[in-house]
Amino acid sequence: MRRTVIAGNWKMNMTPAETKKFIGELAPMVAGLDKCDIVLCVPAIDIPAAVEAASGTNIRIGAENVHFKESGAYTGEISAKMLVEAGVEYVVIGHSERRQYFGETDKTVNLRTKAALAAGLKTIVCVGESLEERELGYTETLLKYQTKMALTGVTAEQLKNVVVAYEPVWAIGTGVTATAEQADEGNGFVRAAIAEAYGAEAAEEVTVQYGGSMNDGNAAELLSKVNVDGGLIGGASLKTDKFTAIVKAANA
Ligand code: PEP
Repeated sequence: MRRTVIAGNWKMNMTPAETKKFIGELAPMVAGLDKCDIVLCVPAIDIPAAVEAASGTNIRIGAENVHFKESGAYTGEISAKMLVEAGVEYVVIGHSERRQYFGETDKTVNLRTKAALAAGLKTIVCVGESLEERELGYTETLLKYQTKMALTGVTAEQLKNVVVAYEPVWAIGTGVTATAEQADEGNGFVRAAIAEAYGAEAAEEVTVQYGGSMNDGNAAELLSKVNVDGGLIGGASLKTDKFTAIVKAANA
């Protein structure tokens, strides 16, 4: 049975002090809601505060990016080993904002994914089509391509630590949510790509999240779909009440 994963992606929000306060508030609200993994992916500077505040709770901490080299002359970058030592369990890779603003490509997404998995991290690999690509009818082709490219060279054993997030670019931070049917279909394309590469049985075990304006009002319907195994949540993960409502929907 695949695990439901509800993960917040804080993007460039929250200071270390705000992080400590937020997790202190959130922890009692989500205590015992253990039918899903609860993850907060936070800015690198917030990781020590987040790990400390989440210690002894059911909240796991993730990073928002990872470099693919182990060490060296890569000013400003952070390696998988550094994240592991800091207490990080998950890492978001290939978010559309990184693809759009920071030159992320399918190739670098693949390199980061392999480095993170080799270090023992769980990855949340993001794929998704733009509105133009959807309107041109490329959604299935693109999702399958991005998924297979991201996972090239990932072993069947490592696949157990892979979560994929289907995030239609037109739904991220826009307030426009994919319909539950569109989310289910997109997630299904991702799972089909994994099945083509690893076999249907392995693909059935992979957690595929939906992300794109998921909130307390639409989470239950999105999560009711057979292919939607959780959510990657931006805006609504910055409010303890909204994020808790999503976690509760995943525990219903
Ligand atoms: C995201 O950052 O991955 C995301 C889905 O953002 P939002 O929920 O704000 O659309």
